[in-house]
Amino acid sequence: MTARTRADLESLPGYIPGRSIPGAVKLASNEMSAGPLPSVVAAIRDAAAGVNRYPDNGAGALVDRLAARLDVPPSHISVGAGSVALCQQLVQATCTPTDEVLFAWRSFEAYPIITQVVGAGQRTVPLRSDHSHDLDGMLNAITPVTRLVFVCNPNNPTGTAVRRDELVAFLDAVPDGVLVALDEAYREFVTDPAVPDGMELYRHRDNVVVLRTFSKAYGLAGLRVGYCAAPEPVAASVNKVFVPFSLNSLAQAAALASLDVEDEMLARCRAVTAERDRVTTELLAMGYPVPRSHANFVWLPLGEQAVVFNEHCLGHKIVIRPFPGDGARITIGDPAENEAFLTAARGWPARRGQPPM
Ligand SMILES: *Cc1c(COP(=O)(O)O)cnc(C)c1O
Repeated sequence: MTARTRADLESLPGYIPGRSIPGAVKLASNEMSAGPLPSVVAAIRDAAAGVNRYPDNGAGALVDRLAARLDVPPSHISVGAGSVALCQQLVQATCTPTDEVLFAWRSFEAYPIITQVVGAGQRTVPLRSDHSHDLDGMLNAITPVTRLVFVCNPNNPTGTAVRRDELVAFLDAVPDGVLVALDEAYREFVTDPAVPDGMELYRHRDNVVVLRTFSKAYGLAGLRVGYCAAPEPVAASVNKVFVPFSLNSLAQAAALASLDVEDEMLARCRAVTAERDRVTTELLAMGYPVPRSHANFVWLPLGEQAVVFNEHCLGHKIVIRPFPGDGARITIGDPAENEAFLTAARGWPARRGQPPM
């Protein structure tokens, strides 16, 4: 007797997590290099004493806190076990097997995976040659079966961002019945005022969802907590497909404690963005092509050389994130980590177009 599982899952690419190699500098997963602040660790420790109890399924305290902070009613907030869980819930909440999700490619690698897992169709639109979203192309790719569009802003892994005027024009033109999810996992690293805060756009529209996470700027990647602001009927549907109790009590406590020290967290983000701009300048001076990043990582569009570059970095005990055939994404760490990466980058012979040695 054999058990039968879904045949279509065989073709599903697995999510590739950033590698962890003992003793190496890890710049592969867009994490914060600095650990949680002492007050956040204390909140996690206090919550640990209560883990014999189920978590608050509705995460009431966290939802109320986020609603107040974002100035929206609590009924517009959904929380989940990381914003990747909310991405999946959005697909589940909007699509049946005959419907489609639309997104740019290359973008967040979870989009194609979760879309296929949920069983919806998908359509992708290539990034422009400057590695940014082709919103006109995406608008043209919307069909009567499109239900959900992901716009990752800033885009993972290229770091590019769409500007207010192009995004507003896109949102104004999206047909009725299509939900646009602005995935702002890296919002706290945006320093360019021309890149809009999705919340300003969300407030005046009923077809926009804004996704955020505590994993990146707030340094809680290991605990899994994210949130979205969504029009009330959308938030209600997203909550219906929430896996019960999947947002654990330690994560809820840590998220609340992190909001208490938000100023310190945002100061850390400013230090990261200063380093990002320094690393970008240095890489450009070395001859690498580097699109301007609005996130906590940089993108090197190395094409076929991405894999060789990755091997070179591993030889320097630096773990980056290669996307074979496409490019390499390097997270901005602390200054010493970034310096170690820059030293490796300086020593790569092919950076000015010479063949790799
Ligand atoms: C990291 C990331 C997320 C989500 O991270 P979680 O840890 O699941 O909150 C969502 N979108 C993008 C584009 C990301 O890079």
